[in-house]
Amino acid sequence: MPNFRSLPAPLQNLTEALSRLPGVGKRTAERLTLALLEWPEEQLCSLGENLIQLRQRIHPCRQCGNYSEDELCGICTSPQRQNNIICVVETAAQIRVIENSGSYHGLYHVLGGRLSPLNGKGPEDLRLPELRTRLQTGSVSELILATSPDVDGEATAHFLTQEFASLPLTISRIASGIPAGADLSYADAATLSMALSGRRKIN
Ligand SMILES: [Zn+2]
Repeated sequence: MPNFRSLPAPLQNLTEALSRLPGVGKRTAERLTLALLEWPEEQLCSLGENLIQLRQRIHPCRQCGNYSEDELCGICTSPQRQNNIICVVETAAQIRVIENSGSYHGLYHVLGGRLSPLNGKGPEDLRLPELRTRLQTGSVSELILATSPDVDGEATAHFLTQEFASLPLTISRIASGIPAGADLSYADAATLSMALSGRRKIN
């Protein structure tokens, strides 16, 4: 456990909270805390309000699981998206990564994780019934599996391929470009764009 004891309690608490963010170590967290201390009260209140609203106003989209203020997200309701392709991702954060690449115009489905027997995560913990319902409408012709290219991600892709093998649709897997073992959340846009365009049909 990092030691935050040299600061007064409110600063320690904030530093400890910020250090839990991805890519933020103890020193950075401490720098951020001290920078916030210099902010005018009005801006700090506004930041606090934004934090509160993360829970109050952002919910998973009923259809795909993306972040949304409404029942359905902006992607599910957009007339500009190709609604016959669904890209399966592990988390809603990964949708942002793919969207930033600008190379995909279909819909998404957030699994809410991946199969991970070692961490006690099985099929029942994923948003599979929702995906099955969407695929069974018959309007989807391709399912792209964009789970991370590590052991659990590959196992999840394999499971999904078998699970939906009997449905009349093409199942493809994102291709090379994403280094094996990498977390998709940290892939850069160009790499991800390549991985999507080079996807291979697996079923
Ligand atoms: Zn949605």
